[in-house]
Amino acid sequence: MISVQDALAHLFALCTPLDNETVPLRAASGRVLAETAMARMVQPPFDASAMDGYAVRDADTTEGAGFEVIGESAAGHGFSGTVSQGSAVRIFTGAPLPAGADRVIIQEDVTREGNRITLTCTPSDNRNIRPAGNDFGPTDGLSAPRRLSPQDVALLAAMNHAEVSVGRRPVVAIISTGDELVLPGETPRPSQIIASNAFGLAAMVEQAGGIARMLPIAPDDMTLLRATFEMAMEADVIVSIGGASVGDHDLVGKVVEELGMERAFYKVAMRPGKPLMAGRLGDTVMLGLPGNPVSAMITAKLFMVPVIGALQGLPPQPAPRQKAVLLQPVSDNGPREHYMRAILTAEGVQPFARQDSSLLSILSNANALLVRPPHDPAREVGETVDVISL
Ligand code: AMP
Ligand code: MG
Repeated sequence: MISVQDALAHLFALCTPLDNETVPLRAASGRVLAETAMARMVQPPFDASAMDGYAVRDADTTEGAGFEVIGESAAGHGFSGTVSQGSAVRIFTGAPLPAGADRVIIQEDVTREGNRITLTCTPSDNRNIRPAGNDFGPTDGLSAPRRLSPQDVALLAAMNHAEVSVGRRPVVAIISTGDELVLPGETPRPSQIIASNAFGLAAMVEQAGGIARMLPIAPDDMTLLRATFEMAMEADVIVSIGGASVGDHDLVGKVVEELGMERAFYKVAMRPGKPLMAGRLGDTVMLGLPGNPVSAMITAKLFMVPVIGALQGLPPQPAPRQKAVLLQPVSDNGPREHYMRAILTAEGVQPFARQDSSLLSILSNANALLVRPPHDPAREVGETVDVISL
């Protein structure tokens, strides 16, 4: 049995980032930027007005000064003349500052009669000008690798990128195993249950930027299970669910061994999720998750999601942790790292009383995992602990 940290390191060692591809900007959100994108624009491209008002020479702006309005500069329609002493150009936010002007007086600070304006106060220190390149210029860019947020997409668009190079989305084949499983919507016979895990995992794959391929449920039969794995060999990652313990009907280990898997590890010192296996099947990363629904979802969060990130070109990193204050005492922990389902609020973290790894309803109500290191002593209210957001 190895630690979560060592298991993750073994798993990352199996991951080679996939090829890059160029996608239109509209398809870039959530993808991992593969090549640093330098600005192709200076923004703003010219000195621009930050306010609606009048562009004038700063030297002319004494209280009570009068100006003749000689033209207008609006967004998209600059003024082609020059502002000279005693003249002003009506200007709007984002419009180019006319030549000769070096201040914008806001419209609230003047009175206007016909083509004449009068400054009614001493103007503030702020000249209300956005200098050219104030936001970004040719030496600025967005560095790779980076998971692109909507804000990043806006910035790339402003930098005049119509398309970007991103890591290919890993294809993740999901195999449910077990004679007892039927799909949601079917009517289960007395000893059957619904194959819920595959649906949760597929959603998680997609949230992590992968493409989920759900394979038909494989019964606990060597031949059929093997055939299902063979169907999945084209994928970048195979995630199997269940059949990974040592019971008579736990056939996943035997099948992947027959198929030639180089095993990286089997059994991780964690709770839930001990029977977890990983290895390489040809070019495919194989991850065998436990069948219990909560175990499957938590091990996927801790192992599958970082793998999908690494394959897209992100630096190999475990699920991010934060600190929180305990709102309830917890007893001492055993030899396995414990990921307790919990509620995290601004006040702190509160684990659920029921932690059985078959309880999906509790997992659905949880928004965080409280991490207990192996052999962690009992902890009191107010102590600081590690949590992982769900
Ligand atoms: P196993 O590791 O195959 O013994 O599965 C452990 C437990 O998880 C059993 O109660 C299975 O019925 C259940 N289980 C296995 N696969 C799934 C699945 N895809 N969805 C929901 N429950 C499952
Ligand atoms: Mg099973």
